[in-house]
Amino acid sequence: MSMGPIDDLYREVILDHHRNPRGCEPLVDPDVSAEGRNPSCGDEVTLQLKFEGDTIARVGVLARGCAISTSSGSMLADLIEGRTIAQAREIADAFRDVMHGKTFPAEVDLGDLEALEGVQQFPVRIKCAVLPWVTLLDAVLAHHEGRTPDPVNTEGVNDDAAPMSVSIKENE
Ligand code: ZN
Repeated sequence: MSMGPIDDLYREVILDHHRNPRGCEPLVDPDVSAEGRNPSCGDEVTLQLKFEGDTIARVGVLARGCAISTSSGSMLADLIEGRTIAQAREIADAFRDVMHGKTFPAEVDLGDLEALEGVQQFPVRIKCAVLPWVTLLDAVLAHHEGRTPDPVNTEGVNDDAAPMSVSIKENE
């Protein structure tokens, strides 16, 4: 099984998040709960947020799917808990920019997301990586607008998707 340009160090980071996801405890009383789906791979995520003022006090990420989507969700939980909504949006926007070919920004700390940089060469897997983040952005927007989030679907995010050409070994 090949992960293409994803080197061994990054591979270990991704698999560690996949096997030991952060923030995977469901929240008892979330302020907002959003669903995201990536039909092209079968990934699903439920993202829950609990706010204290403008701060994201608690994050619950219940991710099911491939290692790239679940690890990205785990990294999300690591990165945004305790941040303001504005900071979380900045991180989400920066990561989406990276997935669409930009280099990692110097001014935004994307933590372990660096390990997913190689995914940007594989359009089908980009949808896996961004799924938790587009779901987050929708959840924050829905909460701001006082509505229940609509389910997010990544179909059509990258219409130039190439055949799935990278896979990840999920078992030892
Ligand atoms: Zn996937």
